[in-house]
Amino acid sequence: MMKLLNSWELNLHKQQLNYFHQYLLTELESATETTPGNSVQLRDFGKLYRRQQVEAALQRLNKGTYGKCMACGTEIVYYRLNADPAILSCAKCE
Ligand SMILES: [Zn+2]
Repeated sequence: MMKLLNSWELNLHKQQLNYFHQYLLTELESATETTPGNSVQLRDFGKLYRRQQVEAALQRLNKGTYGKCMACGTEIVYYRLNADPAILSCAKCE
């Protein structure tokens, strides 16, 4: 049987995700500058994408759907989640 995350590991991932989230918010703040005319320019879209990914993972933790592939709904294998707690899909759907 496939190994799933236990509650201790889930908690650890939650802490990591919260930490990433804080870090990205700080980074994005310094990567955002306001130009004359009040349009916001972002210099780092990679971080913006990453923040969205981390936020989606945190929402899924709160809803209890964390660890399930967003595309097909199967459980994402343990080592993928450990490698990247914000990962949203299984190996097949990536
Ligand atoms: Zn999938």
